[in-house]
Amino acid sequence: MALNASLRTALLWELLTGMWLTLKYMFGPKVTLNYPFEKGPLSPRFRGEHALRRYPNGEERCIACKLCEAICPAQAITIEAEPRADGSRRTTRYDIDMTKCIYCGFCEEACPVDAIVEGPNFEFATETHDELLYNKDKLLANGDRWEPELAKRLEMNAPYR
Ligand code: SF4
Ligand code: SF4
Repeated sequence: MALNASLRTALLWELLTGMWLTLKYMFGPKVTLNYPFEKGPLSPRFRGEHALRRYPNGEERCIACKLCEAICPAQAITIEAEPRADGSRRTTRYDIDMTKCIYCGFCEEACPVDAIVEGPNFEFATETHDELLYNKDKLLANGDRWEPELAKRLEMNAPYR
């Protein structure tokens, strides 16, 4: 039987309904995450912080073809290169202005040797602008740090590339 308006008010019906709802969710499965201690799943196609990868022997993958620099719509990449003594071509400078980057992934798609990639790291907020001006050392260090994860993601994404 439906309670009429005054009876509902006298019984504090809305309050009781609200408390019942709270009680129900208190013992139900949690939908919120205690970030940063808990994290949600991340797609293998997520485009996060950039990294420059190496071959297993430690040699840089990048051959300084500059395709990534050419395709970057934000003009965030700056590369300088010169041949080494053995005739191989390598970068002497590889900078990314992360404050210009729009995380489109074009650099990764353009790279013929899977050198520049966007990894799973999204926790790289800084306090200053300068810290987001990445140079080659920083990008290679990112590659060294994330390589197992990067290789796994590239393998998973292979059918879509
Ligand atoms: S993700 Fe896009 S905008 Fe960012 S550096 Fe690569 S090509 Fe440029
Ligand atoms: S990162 Fe890849 S696309 Fe960019 S210069 Fe190096 S080899 Fe070429």
